[in-house]
Amino acid sequence: MGMESCHDLKMKADLIIFNAKIFIPDQVSPAINCIAVKDGKILRIGSDNEIRSRYWAPENINASKAFVYPGFNDAHSHFTGYALSLRYADLTQAHSFSDIIEIIEGYRKQHPDGWIMGWGWDQNNWQVKEFPDNKLINKLFPGVPVVLVRIDGHAVLASDAAIEAAGIKAPVKKGEAILRNNSFTGIFLETSADKIRNAIPKPTLSETIEYLMVATKLCHEVGLTSVTDAGLEKSEILLLDSLQKAGKITLRVDAWLSPTQENYDYFLKDSVYQTPFLRVGAIKMYADGALGSRGACLLSPYSDDSPNRGILVTTASEMDAVCKLAYDHGFQVNTHAIGDSAVRMVLHAYARILQPENDRRWRIEHAQVVNENDFGWFAKYHIIPSIQATHATSDMDWAERRLGPQRVKDAYAYNRLLLQNGWLPNGTDFPIESIAPIKTFYASVARKDANGQPEEGFMMENALSREDALKSMTIWAAKASFSEKVKGTIEEGKAADFTILNTNLLNAAEDKLLKSKVLYTVVDGKIVYKAK
Ligand SMILES: [Zn+2]
Repeated sequence: MGMESCHDLKMKADLIIFNAKIFIPDQVSPAINCIAVKDGKILRIGSDNEIRSRYWAPENINASKAFVYPGFNDAHSHFTGYALSLRYADLTQAHSFSDIIEIIEGYRKQHPDGWIMGWGWDQNNWQVKEFPDNKLINKLFPGVPVVLVRIDGHAVLASDAAIEAAGIKAPVKKGEAILRNNSFTGIFLETSADKIRNAIPKPTLSETIEYLMVATKLCHEVGLTSVTDAGLEKSEILLLDSLQKAGKITLRVDAWLSPTQENYDYFLKDSVYQTPFLRVGAIKMYADGALGSRGACLLSPYSDDSPNRGILVTTASEMDAVCKLAYDHGFQVNTHAIGDSAVRMVLHAYARILQPENDRRWRIEHAQVVNENDFGWFAKYHIIPSIQATHATSDMDWAERRLGPQRVKDAYAYNRLLLQNGWLPNGTDFPIESIAPIKTFYASVARKDANGQPEEGFMMENALSREDALKSMTIWAAKASFSEKVKGTIEEGKAADFTILNTNLLNAAEDKLLKSKVLYTVVDGKIVYKAK
Protein backbone atom coordinates (compact mmCIF):
# COMPACT_ATOMS: atom_id res chain seq x y z
CA MET A 1 0.00 0.00 0.00
CA GLY A 2 2.79 2.37 0.98
CA MET A 3 4.51 1.79 -2.36
CA GLU A 4 1.26 2.38 -4.22
CA SER A 5 0.49 5.68 -2.54
CA CYS A 6 4.06 6.81 -3.11
CA HIS A 7 3.70 5.95 -6.81
CA ASP A 8 0.41 7.82 -6.97
CA LEU A 9 2.27 11.06 -6.47
CA LYS A 10 4.73 10.29 -9.19
CA MET A 11 4.23 9.92 -12.91
CA LYS A 12 4.85 6.52 -14.41
CA ALA A 13 7.71 5.99 -16.83
CA ASP A 14 8.67 2.65 -18.41
CA LEU A 15 12.37 2.67 -17.57
CA ILE A 16 14.62 4.84 -15.43
CA ILE A 17 18.41 4.80 -15.82
CA PHE A 18 20.00 6.43 -12.78
CA ASN A 19 23.40 6.97 -11.17
CA ALA A 20 24.83 7.31 -14.66
CA LYS A 21 27.28 9.52 -16.47
CA ILE A 22 25.44 10.64 -19.53
CA PHE A 23 26.89 11.79 -22.82
CA ILE A 24 24.78 14.71 -23.94
CA PRO A 25 25.86 16.60 -27.06
CA ASP A 26 29.60 17.31 -26.84
CA GLN A 27 30.12 16.40 -23.19
CA VAL A 28 29.59 14.06 -20.29
CA SER A 29 27.68 16.32 -17.94
CA PRO A 30 28.11 15.85 -14.18
CA ALA A 31 24.75 17.52 -13.50
CA ILE A 32 22.81 15.04 -15.61
CA ASN A 33 22.80 11.48 -14.39
CA CYS A 34 19.31 10.17 -14.89
CA ILE A 35 17.03 9.36 -17.82
CA ALA A 36 13.33 8.54 -17.73
CA VAL A 37 11.95 6.67 -20.71
CA LYS A 38 8.37 6.19 -21.84
CA ASP A 39 6.83 4.63 -24.96
CA GLY A 40 10.27 4.03 -26.45
CA LYS A 41 11.27 7.67 -26.19
CA ILE A 42 13.38 9.78 -23.87
CA LEU A 43 10.82 11.42 -21.60
CA ARG A 44 13.11 13.45 -19.39
CA ILE A 45 16.80 13.81 -18.54
CA GLY A 46 18.17 15.49 -15.44
CA SER A 47 19.70 14.84 -12.04
CA ASP A 48 18.84 11.69 -10.09
CA ASN A 49 16.94 13.81 -7.58
CA GLU A 50 14.93 15.71 -10.09
CA ILE A 51 13.91 12.67 -12.14
CA ARG A 52 13.33 10.18 -9.35
CA SER A 53 11.26 12.60 -7.32
CA ARG A 54 8.90 13.02 -10.27
CA TYR A 55 8.84 9.59 -11.95
CA TRP A 56 8.77 5.94 -11.05
CA ALA A 57 9.18 2.99 -13.41
CA PRO A 58 8.67 -0.77 -13.21
CA GLU A 59 12.15 -1.25 -14.70
CA ASN A 60 15.28 0.51 -13.44
CA ILE A 61 18.95 0.41 -14.32
CA ASN A 62 21.42 1.46 -11.66
CA ALA A 63 24.28 2.39 -13.94
CA SER A 64 26.74 2.59 -11.02
CA LYS A 65 28.46 5.59 -12.59
CA ALA A 66 28.87 3.87 -15.96
CA PHE A 67 28.69 5.92 -19.17
CA VAL A 68 25.53 6.20 -21.24
CA TYR A 69 25.94 7.03 -24.92
CA PRO A 70 23.40 7.40 -27.69
CA GLY A 71 22.94 3.92 -29.19
CA PHE A 72 25.76 3.08 -31.58
CA ASN A 73 24.79 3.17 -35.23
CA ASP A 74 26.80 1.43 -37.94
CA ALA A 75 26.42 3.72 -40.95
CA HIS A 76 27.64 1.18 -43.49
CA SER A 77 27.16 -2.50 -42.93
CA HIS A 78 25.55 -5.52 -44.52
CA PHE A 79 23.30 -6.85 -41.80
CA THR A 80 21.58 -9.60 -43.79
CA GLY A 81 24.89 -10.58 -45.37
CA TYR A 82 26.43 -10.81 -41.93
CA ALA A 83 23.56 -12.96 -40.69
CA LEU A 84 23.95 -15.34 -43.63
CA SER A 85 27.74 -15.34 -43.25
CA LEU A 86 27.18 -17.10 -39.94
CA ARG A 87 26.58 -20.29 -41.96
CA TYR A 88 30.02 -20.04 -43.61
CA ALA A 89 33.30 -21.29 -42.20
CA ASP A 90 35.10 -18.28 -40.69
CA LEU A 91 38.43 -17.85 -42.50
CA THR A 92 39.29 -14.43 -41.10
CA GLN A 93 41.84 -15.80 -38.64
CA ALA A 94 43.74 -17.88 -41.23
CA HIS A 95 47.40 -16.96 -41.60
CA SER A 96 48.16 -19.29 -44.48
CA PHE A 97 46.44 -21.40 -47.09
CA SER A 98 47.11 -24.50 -44.97
CA ASP A 99 45.19 -22.82 -42.09
CA ILE A 100 42.26 -22.51 -44.50
CA ILE A 101 42.45 -26.19 -45.40
CA GLU A 102 42.44 -27.08 -41.71
CA ILE A 103 39.41 -24.85 -41.04
CA ILE A 104 37.36 -26.22 -43.94
CA GLU A 105 38.23 -29.80 -43.02
CA GLY A 106 36.80 -29.05 -39.56
CA TYR A 107 33.74 -27.43 -41.15
CA ARG A 108 33.25 -30.55 -43.31
CA LYS A 109 33.04 -32.73 -40.23
CA GLN A 110 30.15 -30.61 -38.93
CA HIS A 111 28.51 -30.20 -42.36
CA PRO A 112 29.11 -33.57 -44.05
CA ASP A 113 26.78 -32.95 -47.02
CA GLY A 114 26.40 -30.37 -49.73
CA TRP A 115 28.55 -27.38 -50.46
CA ILE A 116 31.55 -26.20 -48.48
CA MET A 117 31.40 -22.46 -47.95
CA GLY A 118 34.02 -20.33 -46.31
CA TRP A 119 34.37 -16.63 -45.93
CA GLY A 120 36.99 -14.09 -44.93
CA TRP A 121 40.38 -15.15 -46.33
CA ASP A 122 42.91 -12.45 -47.13
CA GLN A 123 46.16 -13.42 -48.82
CA ASN A 124 47.68 -10.19 -47.54
CA ASN A 125 47.75 -11.79 -44.08
CA TRP A 126 49.78 -14.76 -45.33
CA GLN A 127 53.51 -15.32 -45.71
CA VAL A 128 53.02 -15.95 -49.43
CA LYS A 129 50.84 -13.00 -50.41
CA GLU A 130 49.60 -14.47 -53.66
CA PHE A 131 46.20 -15.70 -54.71
CA PRO A 132 45.93 -19.44 -54.08
CA ASP A 133 44.66 -21.91 -56.69
CA ASN A 134 42.10 -24.69 -56.35
CA LYS A 135 44.33 -27.75 -56.97
CA LEU A 136 44.47 -28.88 -53.36
CA ILE A 137 40.77 -28.38 -52.63
CA ASN A 138 39.88 -30.32 -55.82
CA LYS A 139 42.06 -33.15 -54.56
CA LEU A 140 40.84 -33.15 -50.93
CA PHE A 141 37.15 -32.72 -51.76
CA PRO A 142 36.67 -34.38 -55.15
CA GLY A 143 33.35 -33.48 -56.81
CA VAL A 144 32.35 -31.17 -53.91
CA PRO A 145 31.48 -27.57 -54.74
CA VAL A 146 33.75 -25.47 -52.53
CA VAL A 147 33.46 -21.66 -52.51
CA LEU A 148 35.81 -19.59 -50.37
CA VAL A 149 34.97 -15.90 -50.44
CA ARG A 150 37.71 -13.33 -49.97
CA ILE A 151 37.35 -10.88 -47.06
CA ASP A 152 36.22 -8.03 -49.35
CA GLY A 153 33.54 -10.14 -51.06
CA HIS A 154 34.93 -9.15 -54.47
CA ALA A 155 36.91 -12.35 -55.11
CA VAL A 156 36.33 -16.07 -54.57
CA LEU A 157 38.34 -19.26 -54.75
CA ALA A 158 36.11 -21.96 -56.26
CA SER A 159 36.68 -25.68 -56.73
CA ASP A 160 36.16 -27.16 -60.19
CA ALA A 161 32.81 -28.61 -59.06
CA ALA A 162 31.66 -25.13 -57.96
CA ILE A 163 32.80 -23.58 -61.25
CA GLU A 164 30.80 -26.21 -63.09
CA ALA A 165 27.74 -25.76 -60.86
CA ALA A 166 27.82 -22.02 -61.55
CA GLY A 167 27.97 -22.72 -65.30
CA ILE A 168 31.12 -20.66 -65.80
CA LYS A 169 33.06 -21.46 -68.95
CA ALA A 170 36.13 -19.83 -70.44
CA PRO A 171 36.49 -17.14 -71.61
CA VAL A 172 35.09 -14.82 -68.94
CA LYS A 173 35.15 -11.02 -68.99
CA LYS A 174 38.65 -9.56 -68.97
CA GLY A 175 40.16 -9.25 -65.51
CA GLU A 176 37.49 -11.41 -63.86
CA ALA A 177 39.35 -14.73 -63.66
CA ILE A 178 42.93 -15.64 -62.99
CA LEU A 179 44.14 -18.16 -65.55
CA ARG A 180 47.18 -20.40 -65.76
CA ASN A 181 48.03 -22.11 -69.06
CA ASN A 182 44.68 -20.89 -70.34
CA SER A 183 42.65 -22.71 -67.69
CA PHE A 184 40.97 -21.44 -64.53
CA THR A 185 42.96 -21.38 -61.29
CA GLY A 186 39.71 -21.10 -59.34
CA ILE A 187 40.09 -17.38 -58.53
CA PHE A 188 37.26 -15.22 -59.85
CA LEU A 189 36.61 -11.52 -59.37
CA GLU A 190 33.67 -9.12 -59.46
CA THR A 191 30.64 -10.26 -61.52
CA SER A 192 32.16 -13.69 -62.17
CA ALA A 193 32.72 -14.07 -58.43
CA ASP A 194 29.08 -13.05 -57.87
CA LYS A 195 27.97 -15.71 -60.35
CA ILE A 196 29.69 -18.38 -58.30
CA ARG A 197 28.33 -17.05 -55.02
CA ASN A 198 24.84 -16.98 -56.51
CA ALA A 199 25.13 -20.68 -57.31
CA ILE A 200 25.42 -21.54 -53.60
CA PRO A 201 22.13 -23.12 -52.48
CA LYS A 202 20.01 -20.57 -50.62
CA PRO A 203 19.14 -21.16 -46.95
CA THR A 204 15.51 -21.93 -46.22
CA LEU A 205 13.26 -19.18 -44.89
CA SER A 206 13.30 -20.54 -41.37
CA GLU A 207 17.10 -20.86 -41.43
CA THR A 208 17.34 -17.27 -42.65
CA ILE A 209 15.09 -16.01 -39.87
CA GLU A 210 17.13 -17.86 -37.30
CA TYR A 211 20.41 -16.37 -38.61
CA LEU A 212 18.88 -12.87 -38.64
CA MET A 213 17.81 -13.26 -35.01
CA VAL A 214 21.22 -14.56 -33.95
CA ALA A 215 22.87 -11.65 -35.80
CA THR A 216 20.57 -9.19 -33.99
CA LYS A 217 21.66 -10.61 -30.65
CA LEU A 218 25.35 -10.43 -31.60
CA CYS A 219 24.94 -6.79 -32.67
CA HIS A 220 23.30 -5.87 -29.37
CA GLU A 221 26.14 -7.57 -27.46
CA VAL A 222 28.63 -5.12 -28.96
CA GLY A 223 26.35 -2.13 -28.31
CA LEU A 224 24.71 -1.64 -31.70
CA THR A 225 21.19 -0.27 -31.76
CA SER A 226 21.07 0.76 -35.44
CA VAL A 227 22.70 -0.79 -38.49
CA THR A 228 22.67 -0.44 -42.24
CA ASP A 229 21.85 -2.99 -44.86
CA ALA A 230 23.72 -1.61 -47.85
CA GLY A 231 21.95 -3.15 -50.82
CA LEU A 232 18.99 -5.52 -50.55
CA GLU A 233 16.35 -7.15 -52.70
CA LYS A 234 12.66 -6.47 -52.14
CA SER A 235 12.03 -9.83 -50.46
CA GLU A 236 14.91 -9.28 -48.02
CA ILE A 237 13.60 -5.85 -47.02
CA LEU A 238 10.07 -7.13 -46.55
CA LEU A 239 11.40 -9.94 -44.37
CA LEU A 240 13.27 -7.49 -42.13
CA ASP A 241 10.17 -5.32 -41.90
CA SER A 242 7.96 -8.23 -40.87
CA LEU A 243 10.48 -9.52 -38.30
CA GLN A 244 10.87 -6.04 -36.79
CA LYS A 245 7.09 -5.66 -36.58
CA ALA A 246 6.91 -9.05 -34.86
CA GLY A 247 9.54 -7.94 -32.33
CA LYS A 248 12.04 -10.58 -33.52
CA ILE A 249 14.56 -8.05 -34.81
CA THR A 250 15.13 -5.27 -32.28
CA LEU A 251 17.66 -3.34 -34.36
CA ARG A 252 16.83 -0.27 -36.37
CA VAL A 253 17.85 -0.78 -39.99
CA ASP A 254 18.60 1.70 -42.75
CA ALA A 255 17.96 -0.56 -45.74
CA TRP A 256 19.25 0.47 -49.17
CA LEU A 257 17.82 -0.74 -52.44
CA SER A 258 19.90 -2.75 -54.84
CA PRO A 259 19.32 -1.11 -58.22
CA THR A 260 16.74 -3.57 -59.57
CA GLN A 261 13.52 -2.91 -61.45
CA GLU A 262 11.60 -4.96 -58.89
CA ASN A 263 12.85 -2.67 -56.10
CA TYR A 264 12.05 0.46 -58.07
CA ASP A 265 8.55 -0.72 -58.90
CA TYR A 266 7.80 -1.48 -55.28
CA PHE A 267 9.66 1.15 -53.25
CA LEU A 268 10.16 4.24 -55.42
CA LYS A 269 7.07 6.16 -54.41
CA ASP A 270 6.64 9.85 -53.71
CA SER A 271 7.99 9.39 -50.20
CA VAL A 272 10.46 6.98 -48.65
CA TYR A 273 9.19 3.93 -46.77
CA GLN A 274 9.63 4.41 -43.04
CA THR A 275 8.62 2.69 -39.81
CA PRO A 276 10.10 3.35 -36.35
CA PHE A 277 12.61 0.56 -37.06
CA LEU A 278 13.12 0.65 -40.82
CA ARG A 279 13.97 3.28 -43.39
CA VAL A 280 14.08 2.56 -47.11
CA GLY A 281 15.27 5.76 -48.75
CA ALA A 282 18.46 5.09 -50.67
CA ILE A 283 19.71 3.29 -53.77
CA LYS A 284 23.03 1.50 -53.44
CA MET A 285 25.38 1.58 -56.41
CA TYR A 286 28.84 0.16 -56.99
CA ALA A 287 31.39 2.11 -59.02
CA ASP A 288 34.37 -0.23 -58.60
CA GLY A 289 35.85 -3.11 -56.61
CA ALA A 290 38.27 -3.18 -53.68
CA LEU A 291 41.89 -2.19 -53.25
CA GLY A 292 43.02 -5.49 -51.73
CA SER A 293 42.09 -7.51 -54.82
CA ARG A 294 43.15 -4.61 -57.12
CA GLY A 295 39.60 -4.14 -58.32
CA ALA A 296 39.42 -0.52 -57.16
CA CYS A 297 39.62 1.80 -60.16
CA LEU A 298 42.59 4.17 -60.06
CA LEU A 299 43.49 7.17 -62.21
CA SER A 300 47.03 5.82 -62.66
CA PRO A 301 48.25 2.21 -62.49
CA TYR A 302 48.66 0.22 -59.30
CA SER A 303 52.16 0.84 -58.01
CA ASP A 304 52.63 -2.91 -57.55
CA ASP A 305 50.84 -4.08 -60.72
CA SER A 306 51.38 -1.66 -63.60
CA PRO A 307 49.67 -1.18 -66.05
CA ASN A 308 46.59 -2.49 -64.16
CA ARG A 309 44.32 0.36 -63.03
CA GLY A 310 41.40 -1.74 -61.79
CA ILE A 311 37.91 -1.59 -63.25
CA LEU A 312 34.76 0.50 -63.16
CA VAL A 313 31.74 -1.76 -62.77
CA THR A 314 29.18 0.96 -63.58
CA THR A 315 29.40 3.42 -66.45
CA ALA A 316 28.81 7.15 -66.11
CA SER A 317 25.63 6.91 -68.15
CA GLU A 318 24.28 4.09 -65.95
CA MET A 319 25.01 6.34 -62.95
CA ASP A 320 23.15 9.21 -64.61
CA ALA A 321 20.03 7.11 -65.12
CA VAL A 322 19.94 5.97 -61.48
CA CYS A 323 20.73 9.45 -60.17
CA LYS A 324 17.82 10.94 -62.09
CA LEU A 325 15.43 8.27 -60.84
CA ALA A 326 16.56 8.77 -57.24
CA TYR A 327 16.47 12.55 -57.49
CA ASP A 328 12.95 12.57 -58.85
CA HIS A 329 11.71 10.40 -55.97
CA GLY A 330 13.65 12.09 -53.18
CA PHE A 331 15.89 9.05 -52.59
CA GLN A 332 19.57 9.10 -51.71
CA VAL A 333 22.21 7.58 -53.97
CA ASN A 334 24.94 5.86 -51.95
CA THR A 335 27.72 4.62 -54.19
CA HIS A 336 30.62 2.36 -53.35
CA ALA A 337 33.74 4.05 -54.75
CA ILE A 338 37.23 3.14 -53.52
CA GLY A 339 39.76 4.13 -56.19
CA ASP A 340 40.36 7.78 -57.07
CA SER A 341 39.05 7.24 -60.60
CA ALA A 342 35.81 5.73 -59.30
CA VAL A 343 35.43 8.49 -56.70
CA ARG A 344 35.89 11.12 -59.41
CA MET A 345 33.40 9.43 -61.73
CA VAL A 346 30.77 9.40 -58.95
CA LEU A 347 31.45 12.98 -57.82
CA HIS A 348 30.98 14.15 -61.39
CA ALA A 349 27.84 12.07 -61.89
CA TYR A 350 26.30 13.46 -58.68
CA ALA A 351 27.34 17.01 -59.62
CA ARG A 352 25.57 16.71 -62.98
CA ILE A 353 22.24 16.50 -61.15
CA LEU A 354 22.75 18.09 -57.72
CA GLN A 355 22.74 21.84 -57.23
CA PRO A 356 25.68 23.20 -55.21
CA GLU A 357 23.21 24.05 -52.43
CA ASN A 358 21.28 20.89 -51.70
CA ASP A 359 20.31 18.71 -48.76
CA ARG A 360 20.03 15.39 -50.62
CA ARG A 361 22.90 13.83 -48.62
CA TRP A 362 24.05 11.66 -51.50
CA ARG A 363 26.92 9.60 -50.27
CA ILE A 364 30.15 8.10 -51.47
CA GLU A 365 30.78 4.89 -49.59
CA HIS A 366 34.41 4.28 -48.57
CA ALA A 367 35.97 7.17 -50.55
CA GLN A 368 39.27 5.48 -49.78
CA VAL A 369 41.52 7.07 -52.39
CA VAL A 370 40.65 10.62 -53.36
CA ASN A 371 42.65 12.65 -55.83
CA GLU A 372 44.14 15.82 -54.38
CA ASN A 373 42.01 17.93 -56.74
CA ASP A 374 38.73 16.22 -55.85
CA PHE A 375 38.31 16.78 -52.08
CA GLY A 376 36.60 20.12 -52.67
CA TRP A 377 33.80 18.50 -54.67
CA PHE A 378 32.42 16.94 -51.48
CA ALA A 379 32.01 20.41 -49.97
CA LYS A 380 30.81 22.14 -53.10
CA TYR A 381 27.96 19.68 -53.79
CA HIS A 382 27.35 18.59 -50.18
CA ILE A 383 28.27 15.03 -51.04
CA ILE A 384 28.77 12.94 -47.92
CA PRO A 385 31.89 10.77 -47.57
CA SER A 386 30.96 7.62 -45.66
CA ILE A 387 34.00 6.14 -43.92
CA GLN A 388 34.94 2.89 -42.20
CA ALA A 389 37.81 3.62 -39.83
CA THR A 390 38.84 -0.02 -39.43
CA HIS A 391 39.47 -0.29 -43.18
CA ALA A 392 42.44 2.05 -42.73
CA THR A 393 44.01 -0.11 -40.05
CA SER A 394 43.20 -3.35 -41.89
CA ASP A 395 44.76 -2.10 -45.12
CA MET A 396 47.69 -0.08 -43.78
CA ASP A 397 50.26 -2.87 -44.12
CA TRP A 398 49.88 -3.07 -47.90
CA ALA A 399 48.10 0.13 -48.96
CA GLU A 400 51.36 1.90 -49.75
CA ARG A 401 52.50 -1.00 -51.97
CA ARG A 402 49.30 -0.69 -54.00
CA LEU A 403 49.32 3.12 -54.15
CA GLY A 404 52.92 4.28 -53.79
CA PRO A 405 54.28 6.77 -51.23
CA GLN A 406 52.65 9.85 -52.79
CA ARG A 407 49.14 8.62 -53.50
CA VAL A 408 48.75 6.89 -50.12
CA LYS A 409 48.79 10.33 -48.47
CA ASP A 410 45.37 11.04 -50.00
CA ALA A 411 44.00 7.65 -48.93
CA TYR A 412 41.94 6.91 -45.79
CA ALA A 413 42.02 10.70 -45.34
CA TYR A 414 39.17 10.70 -42.85
CA ASN A 415 39.84 13.96 -41.08
CA ARG A 416 40.36 15.77 -44.35
CA LEU A 417 37.08 14.31 -45.61
CA LEU A 418 35.36 15.37 -42.38
CA LEU A 419 36.48 18.95 -42.94
CA GLN A 420 34.65 19.11 -46.29
CA ASN A 421 31.10 19.20 -44.89
CA GLY A 422 31.82 19.37 -41.16
CA TRP A 423 30.32 15.96 -40.52
CA LEU A 424 30.49 12.40 -41.79
CA PRO A 425 29.11 8.95 -40.94
CA ASN A 426 31.33 6.07 -39.82
CA GLY A 427 30.75 2.35 -40.07
CA THR A 428 32.46 -0.98 -40.55
CA ASP A 429 31.17 -2.58 -43.76
CA PHE A 430 30.66 -5.68 -41.62
CA PRO A 431 30.96 -8.62 -42.22
CA ILE A 432 34.13 -7.37 -43.94
CA GLU A 433 35.28 -5.98 -40.60
CA SER A 434 34.31 -6.91 -37.06
CA ILE A 435 30.85 -5.75 -36.02
CA ALA A 436 32.25 -4.11 -32.84
CA PRO A 437 31.74 -0.32 -32.84
CA ILE A 438 34.40 0.15 -30.18
CA LYS A 439 36.96 -0.96 -32.76
CA THR A 440 35.67 1.73 -35.11
CA PHE A 441 36.07 4.30 -32.36
CA TYR A 442 39.59 3.15 -31.54
CA ALA A 443 40.69 3.00 -35.18
CA SER A 444 39.22 6.49 -35.76
CA VAL A 445 41.08 8.18 -32.92
CA ALA A 446 44.23 6.05 -32.51
CA ARG A 447 44.62 4.84 -36.12
CA LYS A 448 45.92 1.54 -34.74
CA ASP A 449 44.80 -2.03 -35.24
CA ALA A 450 43.43 -4.26 -32.50
CA ASN A 451 47.02 -5.17 -31.51
CA GLY A 452 47.85 -1.50 -30.91
CA GLN A 453 50.00 -1.25 -34.04
CA PRO A 454 51.66 0.84 -35.33
CA GLU A 455 52.77 2.43 -32.07
CA GLU A 456 52.72 5.97 -33.47
CA GLY A 457 49.44 5.41 -35.36
CA PHE A 458 48.88 5.26 -39.13
CA MET A 459 48.91 8.70 -40.83
CA MET A 460 47.78 10.47 -37.65
CA GLU A 461 46.97 13.70 -39.48
CA ASN A 462 43.78 11.90 -40.49
CA ALA A 463 42.75 10.73 -37.03
CA LEU A 464 39.39 12.02 -35.74
CA SER A 465 39.00 13.72 -32.38
CA ARG A 466 37.20 11.64 -29.76
CA GLU A 467 34.12 13.87 -29.91
CA ASP A 468 33.98 13.64 -33.69
CA ALA A 469 34.53 9.88 -33.67
CA LEU A 470 31.63 9.44 -31.25
CA LYS A 471 29.40 11.68 -33.34
CA SER A 472 30.32 9.79 -36.50
CA MET A 473 28.91 6.63 -34.88
CA THR A 474 25.80 8.26 -33.44
CA ILE A 475 24.30 11.58 -34.53
CA TRP A 476 26.16 11.89 -37.83
CA ALA A 477 25.37 8.29 -38.69
CA ALA A 478 21.71 9.19 -38.04
CA LYS A 479 22.00 12.32 -40.13
CA ALA A 480 23.42 10.30 -43.03
CA SER A 481 20.05 8.54 -43.20
CA PHE A 482 17.89 11.61 -42.47
CA SER A 483 17.16 10.32 -38.97
CA GLU A 484 18.89 12.97 -36.82
CA LYS A 485 15.58 14.35 -35.57
CA VAL A 486 14.52 11.01 -34.11
CA LYS A 487 17.74 9.43 -32.84
CA GLY A 488 21.48 9.89 -32.43
CA THR A 489 21.67 12.06 -29.30
CA ILE A 490 20.36 11.80 -25.76
CA GLU A 491 17.68 14.46 -25.90
CA GLU A 492 14.09 14.54 -24.76
CA GLY A 493 11.69 13.26 -27.39
CA LYS A 494 14.26 11.17 -29.22
CA ALA A 495 14.37 7.38 -29.41
CA ALA A 496 15.44 5.72 -26.16
CA ASP A 497 18.40 3.90 -27.72
CA PHE A 498 21.44 3.70 -25.46
CA THR A 499 24.78 1.96 -25.27
CA ILE A 500 26.09 1.84 -21.71
CA LEU A 501 29.85 1.30 -21.33
CA ASN A 502 32.20 1.08 -18.37
CA THR A 503 34.51 3.56 -20.14
CA ASN A 504 34.56 7.31 -20.66
CA LEU A 505 35.35 7.40 -24.37
CA LEU A 506 36.24 11.08 -24.21
CA ASN A 507 39.13 10.80 -21.79
CA ALA A 508 40.04 7.18 -21.02
CA ALA A 509 43.66 6.25 -21.72
CA GLU A 510 44.02 5.11 -25.31
CA ASP A 511 45.06 1.58 -24.37
CA LYS A 512 41.89 1.21 -22.28
CA LEU A 513 39.51 1.95 -25.15
CA LEU A 514 39.49 -1.50 -26.72
CA LYS A 515 38.87 -3.04 -23.31
CA SER A 516 35.63 -1.09 -22.94
CA LYS A 517 32.84 -3.37 -21.87
CA VAL A 518 29.25 -3.03 -23.01
CA LEU A 519 27.12 -3.23 -19.84
CA TYR A 520 23.69 -2.65 -21.35
CA THR A 521 22.20 -2.06 -24.75
CA VAL A 522 18.77 -0.41 -24.79
CA VAL A 523 16.62 -0.09 -27.89
CA ASP A 524 13.28 1.70 -27.96
CA GLY A 525 13.34 1.83 -24.16
CA LYS A 526 13.83 -1.94 -23.78
CA ILE A 527 16.91 -3.67 -22.43
CA VAL A 528 18.02 -5.89 -25.32
CA TYR A 529 21.41 -6.82 -23.83
CA LYS A 530 22.72 -6.94 -20.29
CA ALA A 531 26.28 -8.03 -19.48
CA LYS A 532 26.53 -11.07 -17.22
ZN1 LIG B 1 29.61 -2.41 -48.22
